[in-house]
Amino acid sequence: MIRPHPAVEALPPATPFIGPERLMRETGRSELVRLGANESAFGPSPFAIAAMERELPRLSWYGDPDSLDLRDALASKHACDAGSILVVAGIDDVMGLIVRAYVGAGGLALAARGTYPTFAYHVHGYGGTLETVDYRDDGFVDVDAMIAAARRLDPHLVYLANPDNPSGTLLPASEVERLIDALPARTLLLLDEAYADFVSDDRLLARPLDDRVIRTRTFSKAYGFAGARIGYALLTRAHHDVLQKVRLQYGVNRNAQIGALAALADTAFVTGVIAQTQAGREEYVALATSLGLRTLPSHTNFVCIDCGTGERATRVMHELLQRGVWIRKPGARPLDRFVRVSVGTAPMRAAFTDAFRAVLAVVPA
Ligand SMILES: *Cc1c(COP(=O)(O)O)cnc(C)c1O
Repeated sequence: MIRPHPAVEALPPATPFIGPERLMRETGRSELVRLGANESAFGPSPFAIAAMERELPRLSWYGDPDSLDLRDALASKHACDAGSILVVAGIDDVMGLIVRAYVGAGGLALAARGTYPTFAYHVHGYGGTLETVDYRDDGFVDVDAMIAAARRLDPHLVYLANPDNPSGTLLPASEVERLIDALPARTLLLLDEAYADFVSDDRLLARPLDDRVIRTRTFSKAYGFAGARIGYALLTRAHHDVLQKVRLQYGVNRNAQIGALAALADTAFVTGVIAQTQAGREEYVALATSLGLRTLPSHTNFVCIDCGTGERATRVMHELLQRGVWIRKPGARPLDRFVRVSVGTAPMRAAFTDAFRAVLAVVPA
């Protein structure tokens, strides 16, 4: 028997995401209403699709390993220089690089228990230890608890998704500032802003980049590029130089670079997606309210609906799948009593609404 490195052998088998494709195979369905992964049901910009189509014949070339055209466009969007932007194959990619570079084997990381699962996956994968603090019962990340834990544990890295996944809640920028200012001197904050596009700029952290924080963004959500795998980090040149040493030089898909550049220019399209997403969220909140259920305030493209108990939420999720509607739910207390449903197109939302009403009628409270 050929054995892997002991550190890899010691890892528990882990699948942070079970895709709808597998669920379709397992349930024998050829289609699911896809509302489980916070993808964009509104697709990418038609201009981006056209730009990628035009360039497809040149797919035999590698992309620019520096992603410079895209970095220049992002630098002008964020009013920084291109040296402050690292283009990567999605946040999941750069999250792995950050964990590898700043936590590593024997290192220590801190996050909210049950937050975006890829973070824990990378910490464990690189041989680090993850400590957690519970969410507050109102669905917000507990900044006080996080500060207290960081001061006690002196971690290498703290992870905060803001807006958060799976809760959808947004901490005010002042709270993020407070967290940063209270962290021990050696602690880096990974501020995952996957959903920043759904939040107005004045509610996001305003302070200039410094070495205490790396911020991550993605084209997977509002821009509708999840399958293209492209995102970026906003970071100081010092951190850029570090990650430059460990990143895959040809890890970013050439077509994704081209599409993302065109997508950035089509601001009207993204604005439309954001407006439709907000309307969809409001529809879900109204649906939940009409059924006597509470929701968490969401600043993302999904809504968490309170099913009362973790058991009931799990049953609701399973029953929805039986009816061809795929959603997910948080696994850890206190958020495990919620189901999390992505905003789809109007027909997808209608399908969810019908199935959800039917399921609630058969799943006892
Ligand atoms: C969707 C999501 C990601 C993944 O982003 P990719 O760029 O597709 O890798 C990362 N973080 C959070 C909080 C997310 O919800």
